[in-house]
Amino acid sequence: MSHSFLTAKAEVRPAGHKGMGIFATSAIAAGETLAGFGGTVCDKATFSAMPEFRQIHAIQIDDELYMVGPEVPDPADMANHSCEPNAGIVGNILLAAMVDIAVGDEICFDYAMCDAADYDEFICACAAPTCRKVVTSADWGRPELQTRYRGWMSSYLQRRIDNMNTATSRAEVE
Ligand SMILES: [Zn+2]
Repeated sequence: MSHSFLTAKAEVRPAGHKGMGIFATSAIAAGETLAGFGGTVCDKATFSAMPEFRQIHAIQIDDELYMVGPEVPDPADMANHSCEPNAGIVGNILLAAMVDIAVGDEICFDYAMCDAADYDEFICACAAPTCRKVVTSADWGRPELQTRYRGWMSSYLQRRIDNMNTATSRAEVE
């Protein structure tokens, strides 16, 4: 039994330089749930001690917590990053379509939607006009991404952003 859910409308296929990726095999409407990430919830110390191949298929779900997939990754764990994503995070372990997705399109999300720790920084070659070239753990803090991904950020990051904005508007009033 797999730990994660992947919609029956997509499958894992080779994705060029990115290795494997998830591609739509049926048309998918905006808003549909695409994946649900499962596994083992680890604190930061446990997570940091894990081998890199496990860390790169994990998803950060809270300030100090990570959902780590099984040793042999499930199909859902193969979702790649894009700086021009067609999918986003709902709650903290669900992936949903941000836009209508056509057959053959690769399903990607922006790792800035969930990552705030430096375990998965990399040079990006997603080829989108908006590509940031280097994807880092600080990207969630970029105002343009916070605006663009409102409603698609992991709930712990959205809470963090909302708290920061509340603090800023309070400071402006004082
Ligand atoms: Zn990129």
